[in-house]
Amino acid sequence: MLTMMQTLIVNVVYLLFPITIYLIYIAYIRNMDLEEKKIFFNIAVFSSIYFIIRFGINYDPIVSLILLNVPLLLAYLKKNNFLVIIISLICIIYCHKVLKVQIFLFVIEYLIYFILYHYLFTKKKFIKNPIHLFVILKAFAISIQLNVFIRADVDPIRNIFYVLGVICIFIFISYLILYFLWKGEEIMDLNATLNALEKEKRVRASLFKITHEIKNPIAVCKGYLDMMDYNEPETVERYTKIIKDEIGRTLILMDDFLSCTKVKIEKEEVDLCLLLEEICDSLNPLFRKNEIEIFLEVPDDEFYLMLDYYRMKQVFVNLLKNAIEAKKNRGKAKIWITICEKKDRIQVYIKDNGMGMDTKTLKRVDEMFYTTKEKGTGLGVCLSKEIIELHEGTIKYHSSLGKGTTVTIDLPLLQNA
Ligand code: ADP
Ligand code: MG
Repeated sequence: MLTMMQTLIVNVVYLLFPITIYLIYIAYIRNMDLEEKKIFFNIAVFSSIYFIIRFGINYDPIVSLILLNVPLLLAYLKKNNFLVIIISLICIIYCHKVLKVQIFLFVIEYLIYFILYHYLFTKKKFIKNPIHLFVILKAFAISIQLNVFIRADVDPIRNIFYVLGVICIFIFISYLILYFLWKGEEIMDLNATLNALEKEKRVRASLFKITHEIKNPIAVCKGYLDMMDYNEPETVERYTKIIKDEIGRTLILMDDFLSCTKVKIEKEEVDLCLLLEEICDSLNPLFRKNEIEIFLEVPDDEFYLMLDYYRMKQVFVNLLKNAIEAKKNRGKAKIWITICEKKDRIQVYIKDNGMGMDTKTLKRVDEMFYTTKEKGTGLGVCLSKEIIELHEGTIKYHSSLGKGTTVTIDLPLLQNA
């Protein structure tokens, strides 16, 4: 009885430890996508199994073996066939090794679970929740195994109590872990709702800001129009220039905002090096005007990517403009564009030796309307990021204040190109 209790406690700890870590992780890390969640769940379940097999089986092997079915139950619950098959195989091999009963009996047992599960739940949708049936079936199997194969020589009354005890424990632990899992996922759902609410809050804040941004120049225009004295051609000329500037700024802001709200892409096969050369050519007057030296270091190879030509052009123009605008007052301003191929992805680096960013700006660089410039809109990086993400790519910033900034854009290379 003591060894059984010991085994139980040890195994439950082994079983719960990785799963608890998984639950804490998903509860606290926001924005975890489904694929990531699945990978972490698999790691947690395999760790549980490893701990039970490596350390738990030294005590009462039968209890350990039965608890090995709890991860299997979780795999069924998650409808993860890959996990189900692997864990079933592990259970079969270990049952055979520890109980020394012919392997085909266990193969049949686990095959029955698998077939029943697929037949009843996925095809016929006969019973909504597979857990109860699995627990009952497993309990039934345990009682047969314990009575017929393992403890046939022991006093039947003691045997019955032992079997009942083991079954109760199995059921209790199964439901306890399921309860933990459900609670964890509930917290995760709550996090998702909170995220959605936060997003809505941000949209409202953006709307407020855009209204504010547009209202300001219009108010300025109105002020100048009120002050305009048509008998004095000099002031008319001066004020008209200011009004034009203000209207121009508003139009740029609205253009940027419009492109931010309805980004749609149409991909085609594009040679990235050619695209970058074209952009540099078209921005050449701007580089010359600002006395910036540009280094376009592209390899001779052709890199074909599936891109929306105009949108990606917009991205590179935005980023290069930022690099130009980051120019320091002293020293020779330089911008480097480099391409690097990594497996099936391409990385483009845009590096400048400009003023760089402090940590606060670096953190907020892709935030809508965040700008440190007097006439900035704070939409360039945000829009670029959105376009890049629509191409299944990423954008990362590295910057050091006073030294310069490097933007890394990572994009998938067209397969078989
Ligand atoms: P805007 O250019 O209108 O300010 P962006 O979204 O393009 O808006 O950029 C946001 C902010 O990020 C800029 O105001 C600037 O402070 C910072 N930033 C972006 N790129 C660079 C860079 N290459 N060097 C220094 N600061 C940068
Ligand atoms: Mg910009």
